[in-house]
Amino acid sequence: MHEFLLLKQQIPEVRRNVPLKKHTTFRIGGPAKYFFAAKTSGQIAKAVQVARSLKLPFFVLSGGSNVLVPDSGISGLVIKLQTTNYKLQINRVWAEAGVPMATLVRETGKRGLQGLEWAGGLPGTLGGAVRGNAGAFGGETKDSVVEVEAFDHEGRRRKFSGRECQFAYRSSIFKKKGYIVLAATMQLRKGSKAKIQAVAKEHMRYRKERHPLEYPSAGSIFKNCDLKKTPATVQVQFKDVIKTDPFPVIPAAALIARAKLQGMRVGDAEISEKHPNYIVNRGNATANDVLELIARVKKEIKNKFSIDLEEEITFPH
Ligand SMILES: Cc1cc2nc3c(=O)[nH]c(=O)nc-3n(C[C@H](O)[C@H](O)[C@H](O)COP(=O)(O)OP(=O)(O)OC[C@H]3O[C@@H](n4cnc5c(N)ncnc54)[C@H](O)[C@@H]3O)c2cc1C
Repeated sequence: MHEFLLLKQQIPEVRRNVPLKKHTTFRIGGPAKYFFAAKTSGQIAKAVQVARSLKLPFFVLSGGSNVLVPDSGISGLVIKLQTTNYKLQINRVWAEAGVPMATLVRETGKRGLQGLEWAGGLPGTLGGAVRGNAGAFGGETKDSVVEVEAFDHEGRRRKFSGRECQFAYRSSIFKKKGYIVLAATMQLRKGSKAKIQAVAKEHMRYRKERHPLEYPSAGSIFKNCDLKKTPATVQVQFKDVIKTDPFPVIPAAALIARAKLQGMRVGDAEISEKHPNYIVNRGNATANDVLELIARVKKEIKNKFSIDLEEEITFPH
């Protein structure tokens, strides 16, 4: 029987040929061959099990704020996570992976729970943040996560303590092993509601002022460079911009700016003038435009500073 009919028998809501542009903050990308919005953990489990039984590749998409979907689209089943339950306790919050970080920042702020202010203005969901250990303004997802529920390779639902998550700079066991984050518990502290809300708001204001939020993007394209891995001669050149967030790094933005690559353009993809580690979509950029621009930036940085920039964004296929 035809693959789509087999899928539909088991997941009636599955759709075919769904454009993914509007599911990504880059507003770039071709269609998903098959697309299913999962609203419960049970639906995620079912979708994974059906995809496996049909030998169909699957890709988990959440807020779409850290992905570059190819122009040809995604050839298997895209499982869009739309699980939105969360529970606030005295100084803990449990939330499903699909809950937007913005909701968690807002709701914990309202209750005077301290610990997520750093994420003020961070796009995407809790699941995406846990998987990539998202961080900003000196904070990281790992700072408050004490337990994560996830599906492992065998489709088993497992619990991981904070330590078992193996959080590292923009990484975790979920990213390394391709596990699906279903929910997480965060430990927070009681604090001053006004102060917590003011800090989160200040981060949103800073992002508006310093980041090119007027154009679609996927945030920072490259990871910052571990100072230890950069040549001594380059360390000297960049000593005035070294950041210690979360460890000593040369910001990728500083490397790109010093190489004078701001404004470089391929098609409608452009290295932002406002924040050089952002590639912005100035209208109808394609994934190929972005890939070409990434390749040019990496080449220039390698030639000028002998540094291999590493992408922070994800490339599904
Ligand atoms: C304007 C802008 C600013 C940004 N600023 C920052 C910043 O300051 N700091 C920072 O760290 N990031 C930043 N980002 C990047 C992005 O917001 C984060 O990486 C975010 O955590 C991604 O979450 P998401 O739900 O959008 O994930 P998606 O983009 O949907 O997915 C990203 C990757 O995670 C996987 N994934 C998603 N959900 C799950 C899950 N539940 N289980 C397992 N895998 C999953 C996907 O398969 C994909 O490989 C920014 C992005 C934008 C557009």
